[in-house]
Amino acid sequence: MLDSPLHPDTVAVHAGRSDFAALGVHAAPIDLSSTNPLPDIVHGGDSYESMATGGQPLPDGGSVYARLWNPTVARFEEALAELEHAETAVAFGSGMAAMTAAILSHTTAIGRHHIVAVRPLYGGTDHLLDSGLLGAEVTFCNEDAVGDSIRPDTGLIVLETPANPTLDLVDIASVVEQAGTVPVLVDNTFATPLLQNPLDLGAAMSLHSATKYIGGHGDVIAGVIACSEPRAQALRRVRAITGALLHPLGAYLLHRGLATLPVRMRTQQAGARALVARLQDHSAVTEVFYPELADERRLIGRQMRGGGAMIAIRLAGGYAAAEALTGSVRLFTHAVSLGGVDSLIQHPAALTHRPVAPQARPGADVVRLSVGLENADDLIADLEQALAKAVVATEAVH
Ligand SMILES: *Cc1c(COP(=O)(O)O)cnc(C)c1O
Repeated sequence: MLDSPLHPDTVAVHAGRSDFAALGVHAAPIDLSSTNPLPDIVHGGDSYESMATGGQPLPDGGSVYARLWNPTVARFEEALAELEHAETAVAFGSGMAAMTAAILSHTTAIGRHHIVAVRPLYGGTDHLLDSGLLGAEVTFCNEDAVGDSIRPDTGLIVLETPANPTLDLVDIASVVEQAGTVPVLVDNTFATPLLQNPLDLGAAMSLHSATKYIGGHGDVIAGVIACSEPRAQALRRVRAITGALLHPLGAYLLHRGLATLPVRMRTQQAGARALVARLQDHSAVTEVFYPELADERRLIGRQMRGGGAMIAIRLAGGYAAAEALTGSVRLFTHAVSLGGVDSLIQHPAALTHRPVAPQARPGADVVRLSVGLENADDLIADLEQALAKAVVATEAVH
């Protein structure tokens, strides 16, 4: 086709559409079939066998049953893989279902029983790892201690960058080097494939809660992992056995969402930078967390192409100020989740990071912002009026 590699903006619009012309369609068809007619027992059975062990449907055997494979989901996976510079991708019914499949396929399913996890992590991930529910033992550590934490039975290393909620950056290449032959999974939810491609830095898997920026409109719960084909087979096998498939309607919305991901991310990032500049000299705010601040290791540029659109702030007035701020915003919605077209604000210690062990939980004075597509001046005005109320509320407490 075209000689030079396509830019991400172009890939985001065109990927996963290669069968459209043959089908005679311009928008992705949504295949809602739960079951599929079988050509005959032998070919249908062979295709079933292929998919149940993590492979693709066989051309003359059909796709048999939608828990095994679905074409609308497969198109989204193909598109996401291209954006992540990966061979393939596997989509799930949620980010946590994706994380569960990654853990099972790399630990108990292959006789390994240990995971090394770099904190901080999203509260749900921390909880899943800490619960022991999936039968693996977990060593939590900081990024410099990964090498020393690896055991002969370590099957997986898990990290998140930028990490939830304080936007800490982890040096992916450094962890990959310490990991040796142990596969590294990077939760890439906050950065998206537009700002960061972990596989280019040696990671084995890039995981997204597609609920966030990939979908981008707050109307789908989904997860996806970009990786190599052999690893994808192990993930698809777990997905088929445990029933963690993404619904085709969700896949359709995610595929459509990808087309606008580059423009959304650029505009939301510009808004976040404007908010950071204002919040940094606001007297009610003692600390602003944003990846482009305090980046002594120069990971922006080396690993990430920009700071993204998530911000956290520490409030001079502590918990009372956080309560007043989240209760006083008018444009921001007080809600968990992130990455959508509309701005959200939430209190991690009470909500997203509630199940995290106390020593790893963010402070009660920290509030997290997800910056949407609204005009930045309007968002700043909203925060200023709400911060003014937070100051009054704090004074009332003292
Ligand atoms: C939301 C989130 C998850 C979990 O994804 P769900 O789609 O809610 O299951 C995992 N990692 C990060 C960084 C998240 O923000």
